Amino acid sequence: MRYKTFSEYLKNKYGEKVYKIPVNLPITCPNRDGNVGCGGCIFCGDVGAAFENLPSDLPVKEQIRQNIDFIGKKYKAEKFIIYFQNFTNTYMSLDEFKRIIMESSHNGVCAVYISTRPDCIRDSYLKFLKEFSECNGYDVCIELGLQSVNYKTLLKINRGHTLAEFIDAVLKIKKYGFDICSHVILNLPWDDNVDVVECAKFISSLGITQVKLHSLYIVKNTPLAKMYENGEFDMGSYFDYVDKAISFIQYLSPDIVIQRLIGRAKEEHTVFCNYGTSWWKIKDNIDSELEIRNIRQGDKFDYLNGKALKKFD
Ligand code: SF4
Repeated sequence: MRYKTFSEYLKNKYGEKVYKIPVNLPITCPNRDGNVGCGGCIFCGDVGAAFENLPSDLPVKEQIRQNIDFIGKKYKAEKFIIYFQNFTNTYMSLDEFKRIIMESSHNGVCAVYISTRPDCIRDSYLKFLKEFSECNGYDVCIELGLQSVNYKTLLKINRGHTLAEFIDAVLKIKKYGFDICSHVILNLPWDDNVDVVECAKFISSLGITQVKLHSLYIVKNTPLAKMYENGEFDMGSYFDYVDKAISFIQYLSPDIVIQRLIGRAKEEHTVFCNYGTSWWKIKDNIDSELEIRNIRQGDKFDYLNGKALKKFD
């Protein structure tokens, strides 16, 4: 591949194919419940990212058991990552967080991935995760929503945090040696290619280890859906997304693992999703454009470590 894929990375690290097991907690987000903001990010639907998950009222252990049973049999899988995916999975008391994380112990589990917001990272939680990771031999990855590097766009989409909180969270997490995966939406209508390139450079300069790229899907009954229906922005074209993904890959450090190139959502939940085509067609298109244009991840990763001093080498 012309970029560092997640599946290859996992295979190299664990010696076999590894499957992510989603766990859906009955929680919310400080940007939805009034603590930081109300109503959430303008694209966030009532079910968050839970459309593929088991009901949140099922105990954690039971969700893990059912999912491992199903995926294990279907794919003959033996190694798993427990993925706390939906809403803000560190937005709870430390005691509650400890209880939930401890429940993720299960045969075959090699890592715990925790999705959260940059303003919900605190040393006491990370310290516990470090102890948990050392006791159980599990790796830890914190998945942090960034979405855009453009702080004006962050305001527009009502993220409820700025770049400062993101940088603070990354620096804190790095002290514990965990992987960090940053989520980015490449085609926010208020961002252009300059923002996309800057985002790749920003992520690379912070030493983040993984990224997950998404296209913007417009979920029904969200503020974003209302804006879309009022014609307040244009979603651009499918080719625009492909171009942005390619620019991002070119500027991204070659060491960073790309978990995915495009997201997916259920058609019946959205008014716009992946330009009306399937996610894998867009992914295939990005892959073939990388071939045609002879581009590899990190081709333009030449901007750090005192670049201007190279003339004295
Ligand atoms: S931070 Fe995540 S869960 Fe919270 S409102 Fe935004 S998208 Fe939704």
